[in-house]
Amino acid sequence: MIGRVSTSTTTIERPDVRDETSTTDDTPKFFHYVKKDQIIDSAVNGRVVVALCGETFPVTKQARPGSPVCPDCERVYRSLRK
Ligand SMILES: [Zn+2]
Repeated sequence: MIGRVSTSTTTIERPDVRDETSTTDDTPKFFHYVKKDQIIDSAVNGRVVVALCGETFPVTKQARPGSPVCPDCERVYRSLRK
């Protein structure tokens, strides 16, 4: 018999998590594919990066972990990897 009765403790996670960083509304909803050298360049020079889909944004504006990948970027990315 493998099943052992585990008491399920229901941890109520904070239902409405708001980080201090999310006060601005312009956080990208998607992850965009950006070339690595552009990210480095942006980090050094403070320039905006151009994603594969053509979206431009400062590298400081990162989508949050768990955000979906931008479908346009995904498509371009795939077409580049023939
Ligand atoms: Zn994109």
